[in-house]
Amino acid sequence: MGYIELTVLNNNVSPLAMGIDLGTTNSLAAVWKDGRPLVIKPEGHSSGSVPSVILLPEQGENTVGHAARAQAIVDPRNTIFSIKRLLGRGLEDVREDLKSLPFPVVEDAAGVLRIQAHGKEYTPEELSAMILMRVHSLCCRSMGGAEIQKAVITVPAYFDDTQRQATRDAARLAGLDVLRIINEPTAASLAYGLDQNAGGNIAVYDLGGGTFDISILSIEDGVFRVLATGGDTRLGGDDFDRTLVDLVLDELKDKLPREELEDPALHLAARLAAEKCKCELSEHPEAELHLTLPQSGAHLRLQVTREEFQERVAALIERTLQGCRRAVSDAGLEPSDIAEVVMVGGSTRIPAVRDAVAAFFGRLPHTELNPDEVVALGAAVQAHILTGGSRDLLLMDVTPLALGLETMGGAVAKVIARNSTVPCQATEGFTTYADNQTGLDFNIVQGERELAEDCRSLGKFKLTGIPPMPAGMARIAVRFHVDADGLLKVTAREESTGVMASIDVEPKHGLTDNQVETMLKESLIYAREDFEKSRSAGLKTEIGGMLLATKKSLAGVRDLLDRETCLDIDEAIEAANKALSSSDGKVLQAARDGLEQATGPLAALLMDRVARSALAGKRLDEV
Ligand code: ADP
Ligand code: MG
Repeated sequence: MGYIELTVLNNNVSPLAMGIDLGTTNSLAAVWKDGRPLVIKPEGHSSGSVPSVILLPEQGENTVGHAARAQAIVDPRNTIFSIKRLLGRGLEDVREDLKSLPFPVVEDAAGVLRIQAHGKEYTPEELSAMILMRVHSLCCRSMGGAEIQKAVITVPAYFDDTQRQATRDAARLAGLDVLRIINEPTAASLAYGLDQNAGGNIAVYDLGGGTFDISILSIEDGVFRVLATGGDTRLGGDDFDRTLVDLVLDELKDKLPREELEDPALHLAARLAAEKCKCELSEHPEAELHLTLPQSGAHLRLQVTREEFQERVAALIERTLQGCRRAVSDAGLEPSDIAEVVMVGGSTRIPAVRDAVAAFFGRLPHTELNPDEVVALGAAVQAHILTGGSRDLLLMDVTPLALGLETMGGAVAKVIARNSTVPCQATEGFTTYADNQTGLDFNIVQGERELAEDCRSLGKFKLTGIPPMPAGMARIAVRFHVDADGLLKVTAREESTGVMASIDVEPKHGLTDNQVETMLKESLIYAREDFEKSRSAGLKTEIGGMLLATKKSLAGVRDLLDRETCLDIDEAIEAANKALSSSDGKVLQAARDGLEQATGPLAALLMDRVARSALAGKRLDEV
């Protein structure tokens, strides 16, 4: 009976794609529904956000989200957080980050990081996939078991090619079909619908848990352009927490034995207590930092005032303003040229941050939307547009850093400038430097610095098969192509002879296609379990709806149906009510099908009446 309600009375179309904010600290999905982007909250939850935390127990199932975060203190070495900091990176890149991460991380021979837990190893891609899967299944379940495989996923503007590719691989492992990877600040500007504005420059200030992004955008005739991006991948709310953790450790350093002071469980407990205190300070002028010491169970209580906290974080806030200054000047603007400022990320709830940003730009920033949701909401807008939904606007992103090649002597030849609008392509000519040279080595680098060793190497490749000729005669065209997702493809061709080499750049810290395939096969086991769970939840919602609709419509027409049919329906209702207490997909499916079959004649009767009343010019709700 649910069917009549759905197809005749409701014109509800299930969204085709979701937007996912895969955050360092929290992740969240949103969909386009009833003409606007919406975060679907699971029943009984005040927010749909899932902490990006994974507990890998020695036995039993992995846990993702709130439960993992709550259990972190019990098993800090096997509780993985801030995984986004490791995504698409090498050991050298994350040495600083690892100091504050209590779980062991190694690099394999291929340069891929592996997180160790209970003798098993996990790549950042696999762990991110677990988070994506959790966010995805929560969202689908909250929508009554909808099956949405397509997704737009957001990344910080500063993410380089390898990091974007790793994000894409993670999504593939999670069984998602990635429509597009978009920058978080770009998504936020979409959520605010700033495309409806007449024109002007916008600054998007995003201070999350682990990253700070500042983007300067301009809109003209409904078209967004990103004029400049900047920020710091290692600056966020975690650093704000750390200032309070230091306060705790200072207090404890003479009171506890060294071994207890170095206990990761203590550090984690301090981190959580510090964060709680910090969030309270956003609301109140004073808050208590309360910590239960994991080893002794003793309590530590410190009163912290907002003023004291602001002093401790002043330097961090100033660093974000420096980023703003640079981005504004990169865009060729002055702070006063910015018409609107958008605040994104949980840390922009801190009053001192809001004040500092307002003072810097000389205007009040936008804080109307929930700063934790705004990126997911924007991703849902983009997902809607990409699946054929209407909202007339064009989106242009830029390359966050210059892309180029290492030349002789270790200098960098920039091929694509920083802040170029994507998709874009550029070709640079090279030649041989020795007589009869038949091959050339290329090192693709990303970065603003002049020397290749100061930039990030995205990959190396060899062009071979150049026919022997005098030095400087070969003409090699190297083409860089950045697609709409910001992903780079490089091809090289020797022009004078037509020798072509197509090159696959294997990201240095990324997974190979084979690895992804293998993991995909393995993850199908997870996926199936997860699918089973969300299927049961979906069936329950569906049965619930069918029961309601059946009872409602049956009341008015019972005497029009024959006795047999009424008995069948009553029986099916009883069976369905019973099935609702089971979580077995098969039982639920059988109950649902039984209900559908039994109510067939009822549906036909109602359909008939609907059709007749429509002919008679009556409104549907009068039937
Ligand atoms: P990310 O995008 O990095 O995943 P979020 O945008 O979800 O992060 O922001 C998470 C950060 O916001 C955390 O550091 C959290 O402590 C901080 N945060 C959340 N709520 C508040 C608050 N009320 N006051 C201060 N900081 C907050
Ligand atoms: Mg974020």
